[in-house]
Parts: sequence; structure tokens; C-alpha cells
Amino acid sequence: MSVGRFIHETLPSRVLFGVGTLGGLPEEAERLGIKRALVLSTPGQAEQGLAVCDLLGVNGAGLFSGARMHTPTDVSEQACARVRELGADGVIAIGGGSTIGLAKAIALRTDLPQVVIPTTYAGSEVTPILGETENGLKVTRRSLKVLPETVIYDVELTLGLPVALSVTSGLNAIAHAAEALYAPNVSPVVAMIAEEGVRALVGALPRLANDPANVVARSDALEGAWLCGICLGLVGMALHHKLCHVLGGTFDLPHAETHSVVLPHVLAYNLEVVPDARNRLARAVGHADPALALHQLAARLGAPTSLASLGMPESGVADAARLAVATPYPNPRPFVEDDIARILSHAWAGSLPS
Ligand code: NAD
Repeated sequence: MSVGRFIHETLPSRVLFGVGTLGGLPEEAERLGIKRALVLSTPGQAEQGLAVCDLLGVNGAGLFSGARMHTPTDVSEQACARVRELGADGVIAIGGGSTIGLAKAIALRTDLPQVVIPTTYAGSEVTPILGETENGLKVTRRSLKVLPETVIYDVELTLGLPVALSVTSGLNAIAHAAEALYAPNVSPVVAMIAEEGVRALVGALPRLANDPANVVARSDALEGAWLCGICLGLVGMALHHKLCHVLGGTFDLPHAETHSVVLPHVLAYNLEVVPDARNRLARAVGHADPALALHQLAARLGAPTSLASLGMPESGVADAARLAVATPYPNPRPFVEDDIARILSHAWAGSLPS
């Protein structure tokens, strides 16, 4: 039994959660003094972006629907040019982590207030973290400048999130909470939030995979995603996030799917040395072996379970292992290149986590 020692800080953010909460957007924009909002979306969610513009009425200045995965800086520059052209005084993002990343990139450059409306479970909306890509290199920073002022979670907007993306995005969220549980700066508050976040998602994902329009399951999943996102925003991540970052950057693998595949393998490695985290995760997933349980959950719900199926060449295992150890990274269990190569070869092949 160890004696606790921690520093706990909370982050300022205003969160509206419920069904139909999007209707509160005009009032929320007004609270922040936004009179000419630039609305952001991906090309695929442009219709939802236009609906948000309509909802804002005269306070909607226009839509930029060019958000892309991994927040390329050239896209952010184009969006900032739109901000200047329209004289926008705030940004409103509707979408997943990619669109919210663009809002953050604009806030970093302009200090404009943000209202974000998440439609996946990635959790970026409650973190002061921004990862930007330039010349193929993704650089991540933490700054309160990028933390959105207001988050509107509307369960209705997630009903149409395709099941495959719902499952991988949910597992991506679980990864934030799982790594938070063994972060050097984890506090009792973060540990409770993490455990509850994992419990909510593990319970909700099978229900929503079965019945994607189940409002209660969707609500539980979105609440879980929020809780897991809070963990990501409050404490440092470890080996799992590092590996996903390397794999995403080097092999252009899709974000949420990569998290789904890798998480059980890193947990099998790390949980051996962090009994408190293992116990909490075991309680949350309802299984004595949380790594195995998460691997089985992914497989049962049709999520990818191998890096090979995501298109990574087997030769990439050695390259990724070398890159992952090139810069020091905090992790509860020390590792050398061979350990990483073993974890990655299991993840590549999709074998059981061990
Ligand atoms: P995404 O935002 O790229 O969304 C994937 C696709 O699904 C997009 O085409 C999007 O338009 C579509 N989509 C989103 N919601 C939908 C809905 N409800 N219905 C139908 N289609 C929908 O994916 P993501 O996994 O949410 O985000 C990934 C990105 O977010 C990565 O770049 C990652 O690095 C970043 N991220 C950042 C943080 C952070 O704290 N900075 C946290 C998590 C993720």
C-alpha cells in the first residue's frame, strides 16, 4: 500500500450535455460575445455545418468545411484566411477530433473563442492539447489557448456515427483513461473519472453496436467519452499514445483504429507493474485481465485487431520500434527496443495480448 502524493488541477470548461442541446448554441455563442462565427466541419459533415450556420442566423458568418485528419498546418492557414476575410470573432466546430483540432489551431493563432460540438468519442474537446502536422511531421503541444471555452454534447448528433467508427472511437477514448490510471501525476479524482469513463464505454459499445440508434447507449457512450477526454486533458499519457503517434505519423494509419489495435498489447505489458491501475481497469471492464477483455471486445464488435489489417507492412515493426525509443518517454514499465518490437509484432499479427 503506497502513500498518495499528487498535484491536482482542473481545467476551465463549460459543458452542456443532453439530447437536443444543440438548440442552446445561439445562447452559448452570445455568452462568449460571438457575433460573426466561422463554422468548421469536414467535407463529409458540411451539411451539419450548414445547419449550424442556419441555427446561428445573423451570427453565422460562414462555413469552412475543409477540416482534415491530423490538423495539417496549410489547412489551418486557409481557415485563418477565411477568419480574416469574414471578420469572424469566434469559431464553432461540429465534428470529431479532426474538426476540433482545426478550431484549436485557429484559436492558437488568433485567440478567438471556441464552441465545439463533438460527434465522435475522441475527447479532444476537453483537452488543452493540439497535434499539428507539417511536412509529414506531427508536433503536439499543450496550451490553455487551445482549450475550447464551451462544449455542447448533443447525443442526437452521435446517433448516425457509423458503428465501426463508434467502436474504434470508443476504444480510443478508453485508451485515454487507461493510460491516465498509471500516469505519474494521476490523482484520486482522475482515477475515479477514468474508471467510470471506461465502465460507461465498455457497457455502452456492445449495446450501440447492436442498436446504433439506442439513445440511452449513445448517451452513456458520449458521457464515457467526455470522462475519458477529461483524463487525457489532465495527466500525461505513456507508451500506448507514443506508439500510436509514431504509427500514425510514419505509416499514415487511421487514428482511432490504431488505438483500438495497440491498446490491449501495451496494457498487457504495462499492467504487470501497476496493480492499482490494473485493479481499477479490471473493475471497469468486469474481467480480471483487462487487456484480454479489451482485445476480445474489439474483436467481438468487429473492430480491427491487427496492424496488418490497417495496411502496415511487417517490415515497419522494426522501424516503428526504433522510432519509439529514439526520444525518451515516460512509462511505468521501462522498455528497450526489443520490448517494443515484441509488442508491435503481436499488434501487427493481431495475436492475443500477452
Ligand atoms: P475524425 O474527426 O477524423 O472523424 C472521422 C470521420 O468521421 C470524418 O470524416 C468525420 O467527418 C466523420 N464523422 C465524425 N462524426 C460523425 C458522425 N456523428 N456521423 C457521421 N460521420 C461522422 O476522427 P476522430 O477519431 O474523432 O479524431 C481524430 C483526430 O483527432 C486525430 O487527428 C487525433 O490526433 C485528434 N485527437 C486529438 C485529441 C487532442 O486532445 N488533441 C484527442 C483525440 C483525438
